[in-house]
Amino acid sequence: MLPTEVYPGSEPSRWKYLDRIRTRPGPFTNPDAFDGSLVAEAIENMTVLTVVELTSHSGAGGLGCEILKNLALSGFKSIHVIDMDTIDISNLNRQFLFREEDVGSYKAEVAARFVEKRVKGVKITPHNKMIQDFGEDFYMQFQVIVCGLDSIEARRWINATLVNMVDEDVSDSYKPLVDGGTEGFKGQARVIFPTVTSCIECQLDMHAPRAAVPLCTIASIPRQPEHCIEWAHVIAWDQETPFPALDKDDPEHITWLYKKALLRAQEFNIPGVTYSLTQGVVKNIIPAIAATNSVIAAACCNEAVKIGTSAAPMLGYPDENYMMYSGNDSIYTYTFKHEKKDDCPVCGNLARELQVDPDWTLRELVESFATRPEAQLKKPSLRGEGKTLYMQSPASLEEQTRPNLDKTLVELGLAEGDEIGVTDPAFATVMFKFKLKFRISE
Ligand SMILES: [Zn+2]
Repeated sequence: MLPTEVYPGSEPSRWKYLDRIRTRPGPFTNPDAFDGSLVAEAIENMTVLTVVELTSHSGAGGLGCEILKNLALSGFKSIHVIDMDTIDISNLNRQFLFREEDVGSYKAEVAARFVEKRVKGVKITPHNKMIQDFGEDFYMQFQVIVCGLDSIEARRWINATLVNMVDEDVSDSYKPLVDGGTEGFKGQARVIFPTVTSCIECQLDMHAPRAAVPLCTIASIPRQPEHCIEWAHVIAWDQETPFPALDKDDPEHITWLYKKALLRAQEFNIPGVTYSLTQGVVKNIIPAIAATNSVIAAACCNEAVKIGTSAAPMLGYPDENYMMYSGNDSIYTYTFKHEKKDDCPVCGNLARELQVDPDWTLRELVESFATRPEAQLKKPSLRGEGKTLYMQSPASLEEQTRPNLDKTLVELGLAEGDEIGVTDPAFATVMFKFKLKFRISE
């Protein structure tokens, strides 16, 4: 008997090419277990959660609409989408599921209805909420989670939640997380099997805050147009205070900075200072590139299809779990294995080493958590072994522990090798463990 070429329940023409994958065995399918008539059904029965930014806020990101459309066209029939925003007129130029009459409506609802209308038989459940509004019970109902967020905080939160949900005795508690992200011409796609492969927290150094240009370069030897703009922004503005306070949304203020930067650029013979570059540098805007978003969304949905069908090995099995893409200079992709870290605060069990200067005050330590690539915690509360060092809340405890901020680490009785626990309101469930390692400043 010939193999079933077309899954009987679907519109044949639309799914013709997809059915070739779904109904035929491939080099990676298990010949004893493969049944071509069941694969399409298996995908249809999966419930996928998409945690996405349907359009970007800052200009970066905005993978959501692509991901939603791709999943529906890949044969997934039960999709949930979380996004709490409403549609703004400025979103319409870079995304294809919203129309002018949708301005003011919830993005998740409009996107869901649009895709449902175009792809018959798909059911998309919108949630106009934040990811943190849901508990483990909610996340348990999904077989795959596809994430396309532009905030690292939200990614870290969902990652920590999925790792915490793992119960070794319940195979259904392992929720594969497919994560995509873009920034201008660069992007990445990765798959995380909570507790099994390297998690987002293990890979946090891939999201290191961008290094600031040293002030001396800006002040004395600018080489790039950005340096001239930073000079106008950081130095000239303070010296001349043309307006009482800088409003980055006020065109008059940006024009002032632009003119200053242009004069400086001419002095140093540096081309390339424009009004829009000035605006971009001052507001820290990274442009969203539609092509990057489609490449990364396609890679993510491809992974979801592989998880659903076993048609090909997914990222992370056996080794390579991280695909990076760069369109900056021609097109380049590289796939590699990001190792799981034993000292990962979320999925590891060892405390992570933390280089500190023993002469630092506790305040300096607390402030350093925001910028350290391995921590990136903006409102940390710290506990030492057996005592509270500093608590951000409640107010009474903050007041009680505030005097500690001006003491040095040594004065607080902290020693090399001591473990400290750090919590942050952005990651309610996680206690980050660090082990102090002293380095003496020169
Ligand atoms: Zn980890």
